[in-house]
Amino acid sequence: MVIDSHVHFGKAMEWDLKGIDLINAFKKYSIDFGIVSNIEGAEFGHEFDKIENDEDQLKVNKKTLDLVKENPEKLKGLFWIKPNTNKYSDEIKDFLIENKKFFCGLKAHPYHSKMKFTTENYRPYIKLAEELDIPFAVHTAEDENSKVKYLYETAKENPKVNFIAVHMGLGTDNQEAIEYISKLDNLYGDTTWVSKENVLEAVKKCGSKKIMFGTDAIIDGTNTYEKYLTMFEYLHENLSEEDFENVFRYNARRLFDL
Ligand SMILES: [Zn+2]
Repeated sequence: MVIDSHVHFGKAMEWDLKGIDLINAFKKYSIDFGIVSNIEGAEFGHEFDKIENDEDQLKVNKKTLDLVKENPEKLKGLFWIKPNTNKYSDEIKDFLIENKKFFCGLKAHPYHSKMKFTTENYRPYIKLAEELDIPFAVHTAEDENSKVKYLYETAKENPKVNFIAVHMGLGTDNQEAIEYISKLDNLYGDTTWVSKENVLEAVKKCGSKKIMFGTDAIIDGTNTYEKYLTMFEYLHENLSEEDFENVFRYNARRLFDL
Protein backbone atom coordinates (compact mmCIF):
# COMPACT_ATOMS: atom_id res chain seq x y z
CA MET A 1 0.00 0.00 0.00
CA VAL A 2 1.46 3.34 -1.08
CA ILE A 3 -0.06 6.73 -0.25
CA ASP A 4 1.06 9.78 -2.21
CA SER A 5 0.61 12.80 0.07
CA HIS A 6 0.94 15.38 -2.69
CA VAL A 7 -0.84 15.14 -6.07
CA HIS A 8 -2.61 17.66 -8.30
CA PHE A 9 -5.21 18.27 -10.94
CA GLY A 10 -6.56 21.42 -12.62
CA LYS A 11 -5.79 23.86 -15.39
CA ALA A 12 -3.40 26.73 -14.67
CA MET A 13 -0.29 28.24 -16.24
CA GLU A 14 1.24 25.67 -18.62
CA TRP A 15 -0.63 22.77 -17.05
CA ASP A 16 -3.87 21.00 -17.78
CA LEU A 17 -3.96 18.07 -15.39
CA LYS A 18 -6.94 15.79 -15.78
CA GLY A 19 -8.31 13.83 -12.85
CA ILE A 20 -8.72 10.76 -15.02
CA ASP A 21 -5.03 10.84 -15.96
CA LEU A 22 -4.10 11.00 -12.28
CA ILE A 23 -6.25 7.97 -11.52
CA ASN A 24 -4.72 6.11 -14.47
CA ALA A 25 -1.22 6.98 -13.25
CA PHE A 26 -2.16 5.55 -9.83
CA LYS A 27 -3.19 2.32 -11.54
CA LYS A 28 -0.08 2.13 -13.69
CA TYR A 29 2.36 2.75 -10.83
CA SER A 30 0.47 0.97 -8.03
CA ILE A 31 -0.33 4.05 -5.98
CA ASP A 32 -3.22 3.16 -3.70
CA PHE A 33 -4.29 6.57 -2.48
CA GLY A 34 -3.51 10.27 -3.00
CA ILE A 35 -4.02 13.61 -1.28
CA VAL A 36 -5.08 15.95 -4.07
CA SER A 37 -5.31 19.72 -4.55
CA ASN A 38 -6.40 21.93 -7.43
CA ILE A 39 -3.59 24.00 -9.00
CA GLU A 40 -6.22 26.60 -9.93
CA GLY A 41 -5.65 27.86 -6.39
CA ALA A 42 -2.48 29.54 -7.72
CA GLU A 43 -3.18 33.27 -7.40
CA PHE A 44 -0.27 34.51 -9.49
CA GLY A 45 1.49 32.78 -12.34
CA HIS A 46 5.22 32.80 -13.00
CA GLU A 47 4.90 36.46 -13.92
CA PHE A 48 3.98 38.15 -10.69
CA ASP A 49 2.37 41.22 -12.18
CA LYS A 50 -0.48 39.18 -13.53
CA ILE A 51 -3.21 37.45 -11.54
CA GLU A 52 -3.38 33.87 -12.73
CA ASN A 53 -6.82 33.01 -11.47
CA ASP A 54 -9.41 35.30 -9.95
CA GLU A 55 -11.90 32.57 -9.24
CA ASP A 56 -13.16 32.45 -5.66
CA GLN A 57 -11.30 29.93 -3.53
CA LEU A 58 -14.51 28.09 -2.64
CA LYS A 59 -15.22 27.58 -6.31
CA VAL A 60 -11.69 26.27 -6.90
CA ASN A 61 -12.06 23.77 -4.09
CA LYS A 62 -15.53 22.66 -5.10
CA LYS A 63 -13.83 21.18 -8.16
CA THR A 64 -11.61 19.21 -5.79
CA LEU A 65 -14.73 18.05 -3.98
CA ASP A 66 -16.24 16.83 -7.26
CA LEU A 67 -13.10 14.89 -8.18
CA VAL A 68 -12.82 13.31 -4.73
CA LYS A 69 -16.49 12.37 -4.74
CA GLU A 70 -15.97 10.60 -8.06
CA ASN A 71 -13.01 8.66 -6.62
CA PRO A 72 -13.63 8.29 -2.88
CA GLU A 73 -11.58 5.11 -2.58
CA LYS A 74 -8.55 6.77 -4.25
CA LEU A 75 -8.52 10.43 -3.19
CA LYS A 76 -8.99 12.93 -0.40
CA GLY A 77 -8.60 16.66 -0.91
CA LEU A 78 -6.62 19.55 0.45
CA PHE A 79 -8.33 22.94 0.43
CA TRP A 80 -5.94 25.23 -1.51
CA ILE A 81 -6.22 28.68 0.04
CA LYS A 82 -5.91 32.06 -1.69
CA PRO A 83 -4.72 34.35 1.12
CA ASN A 84 -3.67 37.23 -1.12
CA THR A 85 -6.59 37.94 -3.46
CA ASN A 86 -9.42 36.41 -1.38
CA LYS A 87 -10.58 37.06 2.16
CA TYR A 88 -11.16 34.40 4.77
CA SER A 89 -14.81 33.74 5.49
CA ASP A 90 -16.66 31.31 7.72
CA GLU A 91 -18.12 29.78 4.59
CA ILE A 92 -14.81 27.95 4.24
CA LYS A 93 -15.17 26.49 7.68
CA ASP A 94 -18.75 25.44 6.96
CA PHE A 95 -17.66 23.90 3.64
CA LEU A 96 -14.91 21.87 5.30
CA ILE A 97 -17.14 20.70 8.13
CA GLU A 98 -19.86 19.72 5.69
CA ASN A 99 -17.36 17.86 3.53
CA LYS A 100 -15.22 16.39 6.28
CA LYS A 101 -15.36 13.00 4.57
CA PHE A 102 -13.68 14.39 1.46
CA PHE A 103 -11.11 16.92 2.72
CA CYS A 104 -8.28 16.25 5.13
CA GLY A 105 -6.19 19.42 5.25
CA LEU A 106 -5.24 22.84 3.94
CA LYS A 107 -2.68 23.77 1.31
CA ALA A 108 -0.79 27.03 0.81
CA HIS A 109 1.61 28.03 -1.93
CA PRO A 110 3.53 31.15 -0.81
CA TYR A 111 5.21 31.43 -4.23
CA HIS A 112 2.02 31.43 -6.28
CA SER A 113 0.26 33.54 -3.64
CA LYS A 114 3.17 35.97 -3.58
CA MET A 115 3.04 36.02 0.19
CA LYS A 116 5.29 34.83 3.03
CA PHE A 117 3.78 32.28 5.38
CA THR A 118 4.39 34.59 8.34
CA THR A 119 1.97 37.15 6.86
CA GLU A 120 -1.15 37.90 8.87
CA ASN A 121 -3.45 36.84 6.01
CA TYR A 122 -2.64 33.18 6.78
CA ARG A 123 -3.68 33.42 10.43
CA PRO A 124 -7.41 32.70 10.17
CA TYR A 125 -6.58 29.60 8.11
CA ILE A 126 -4.08 28.41 10.71
CA LYS A 127 -6.72 28.93 13.39
CA LEU A 128 -9.12 26.95 11.25
CA ALA A 129 -6.64 24.09 10.90
CA GLU A 130 -6.30 24.04 14.68
CA GLU A 131 -10.04 24.13 15.22
CA LEU A 132 -10.75 21.34 12.75
CA ASP A 133 -7.62 19.42 13.75
CA ILE A 134 -6.33 19.10 10.19
CA PRO A 135 -2.76 19.52 8.89
CA PHE A 136 -1.47 22.37 6.75
CA ALA A 137 0.72 21.54 3.71
CA VAL A 138 2.91 24.46 2.65
CA HIS A 139 5.10 24.80 -0.45
CA THR A 140 8.67 25.65 0.53
CA ALA A 141 11.46 26.77 -1.80
CA GLU A 142 14.46 29.03 -2.14
CA ASP A 143 12.58 32.14 -3.31
CA GLU A 144 11.91 35.02 -0.94
CA ASN A 145 8.25 34.16 -0.24
CA SER A 146 8.62 30.40 0.16
CA LYS A 147 11.55 30.12 2.54
CA VAL A 148 11.22 27.21 4.94
CA LYS A 149 12.30 29.55 7.72
CA TYR A 150 8.89 31.28 7.63
CA LEU A 151 7.10 27.98 7.92
CA TYR A 152 9.36 26.97 10.81
CA GLU A 153 8.62 30.21 12.68
CA THR A 154 4.88 29.79 12.15
CA ALA A 155 4.93 26.12 13.16
CA LYS A 156 6.80 27.02 16.32
CA GLU A 157 4.16 29.60 17.21
CA ASN A 158 1.33 27.16 16.52
CA PRO A 159 2.32 23.87 18.19
CA LYS A 160 -1.18 22.40 17.98
CA VAL A 161 -1.20 22.39 14.18
CA ASN A 162 0.79 19.92 12.09
CA PHE A 163 2.56 21.51 9.13
CA ILE A 164 4.16 19.81 6.14
CA ALA A 165 7.16 21.43 4.48
CA VAL A 166 6.40 20.40 0.93
CA HIS A 167 9.66 19.88 -1.07
CA MET A 168 11.77 20.51 2.06
CA GLY A 169 13.01 23.69 0.38
CA LEU A 170 12.79 23.28 -3.40
CA GLY A 171 15.98 24.36 -5.18
CA THR A 172 18.05 24.15 -1.97
CA ASP A 173 20.26 21.34 -0.67
CA ASN A 174 17.41 20.59 1.82
CA GLN A 175 19.75 20.90 4.81
CA GLU A 176 17.99 23.85 6.42
CA ALA A 177 14.59 22.18 6.10
CA ILE A 178 15.90 18.91 7.53
CA GLU A 179 17.32 20.82 10.48
CA TYR A 180 14.02 22.59 11.14
CA ILE A 181 11.93 19.41 10.76
CA SER A 182 14.17 17.62 13.25
CA LYS A 183 13.62 20.41 15.79
CA LEU A 184 9.82 20.66 15.84
CA ASP A 185 7.37 17.85 16.60
CA ASN A 186 4.67 19.49 14.48
CA LEU A 187 6.76 20.06 11.35
CA TYR A 188 6.96 17.31 8.71
CA GLY A 189 8.67 16.99 5.34
CA ASP A 190 7.58 15.55 2.02
CA THR A 191 9.73 13.96 -0.67
CA THR A 192 8.46 15.91 -3.69
CA TRP A 193 11.44 16.77 -5.95
CA VAL A 194 13.91 15.78 -3.23
CA SER A 195 16.84 13.54 -4.23
CA LYS A 196 16.74 10.00 -2.90
CA GLU A 197 19.96 10.57 -0.97
CA ASN A 198 18.52 13.62 0.78
CA VAL A 199 15.30 11.78 1.59
CA LEU A 200 17.37 9.06 3.25
CA GLU A 201 19.32 11.69 5.17
CA ALA A 202 16.07 13.37 6.26
CA VAL A 203 14.71 10.07 7.56
CA LYS A 204 17.94 9.38 9.45
CA LYS A 205 18.07 12.85 11.01
CA CYS A 206 14.36 13.52 11.64
CA GLY A 207 13.08 9.99 12.16
CA SER A 208 10.92 8.01 9.75
CA LYS A 209 7.72 9.35 11.30
CA LYS A 210 8.49 12.87 10.07
CA ILE A 211 8.98 12.30 6.33
CA MET A 212 6.19 11.49 3.88
CA PHE A 213 6.13 10.27 0.32
CA GLY A 214 4.87 12.97 -2.08
CA THR A 215 5.42 13.54 -5.81
CA ASP A 216 3.49 16.45 -7.40
CA ALA A 217 1.92 13.91 -9.81
CA ILE A 218 0.89 14.43 -12.50
CA ILE A 219 2.68 17.71 -13.00
CA ASP A 220 5.12 16.03 -15.41
CA GLY A 221 2.38 14.08 -17.13
CA THR A 222 1.25 10.53 -16.45
CA ASN A 223 4.88 9.46 -16.22
CA THR A 224 5.64 11.69 -13.22
CA TYR A 225 6.07 8.54 -11.13
CA GLU A 226 8.81 7.24 -13.41
CA LYS A 227 11.45 9.35 -11.70
CA TYR A 228 10.35 8.23 -8.23
CA LEU A 229 10.89 4.55 -9.00
CA THR A 230 14.58 4.77 -8.16
CA MET A 231 13.77 6.60 -4.90
CA PHE A 232 11.35 3.83 -4.04
CA GLU A 233 13.96 1.13 -4.66
CA TYR A 234 16.75 3.03 -2.94
CA LEU A 235 14.73 3.59 0.24
CA HIS A 236 13.52 0.01 0.22
CA GLU A 237 17.14 -1.11 0.20
CA ASN A 238 18.40 1.38 2.77
CA LEU A 239 15.57 1.63 5.31
CA SER A 240 14.15 -0.93 7.71
CA GLU A 241 10.74 -2.31 6.77
CA GLU A 242 9.15 -0.21 9.53
CA ASP A 243 10.80 3.05 8.45
CA PHE A 244 9.92 2.40 4.83
CA GLU A 245 6.27 1.77 5.69
CA ASN A 246 6.15 4.96 7.74
CA VAL A 247 7.34 7.07 4.81
CA PHE A 248 5.18 5.45 2.15
CA ARG A 249 2.04 4.76 4.14
CA TYR A 250 1.62 5.20 7.87
CA ASN A 251 2.64 8.86 8.27
CA ALA A 252 0.08 10.03 5.71
CA ARG A 253 -2.53 7.77 7.22
CA ARG A 254 -1.93 9.17 10.70
CA LEU A 255 -1.50 12.82 9.74
CA PHE A 256 -4.45 13.02 7.37
CA ASP A 257 -6.54 10.68 9.51
CA LEU A 258 -7.29 8.37 6.55
ZN1 LIG B 1 2.66 20.69 -5.65
